[in-house]
Amino acid sequence: MDKAIVRGCCLCGGVIFDVVGEPETCFQCFCQHCQKSAGAPSQLSAKFNKNQVHVKLGRELLKTYILKDTLSGQDKHKVFCSDCGCTLWTIPMRHGGDSFIVRTSLMENGLQKYVPNVVLFDRYVQRLSVGQVNPKSFATMPGF
Ligand SMILES: [Zn+2]
Ligand SMILES: [Zn+2]
Repeated sequence: MDKAIVRGCCLCGGVIFDVVGEPETCFQCFCQHCQKSAGAPSQLSAKFNKNQVHVKLGRELLKTYILKDTLSGQDKHKVFCSDCGCTLWTIPMRHGGDSFIVRTSLMENGLQKYVPNVVLFDRYVQRLSVGQVNPKSFATMPGF
């Protein structure tokens, strides 16, 4: 097993964490929780065992929001930075709290490294208007 260490952090950098080794699965999820939480059509995340995730800095900043209206009927613990509000990972109690579903965009080259091999809730993809128009496109913010 590859024991590479990949570093991640929240938006403000107050929480820094390492993941050790490879994830069990990489997800792209289109469920409504993910859409709301990500502010995007989908959320990209990777499933690690809790023993693979090590908080290096800012443990005191971690807060947990408990989602109760889940499909499984079991709570999901959404762990976020209380300074910047950035979600770090979700802990589904369906897996007994042993799995951390970590947002891959928080990790170094995470979007390239953790390409999804599973797509969830693809029935919500069709509802999106993204891609149906030709938007004006800029390399950065216009005016900068
Ligand atoms: Zn933060
Ligand atoms: Zn989801």
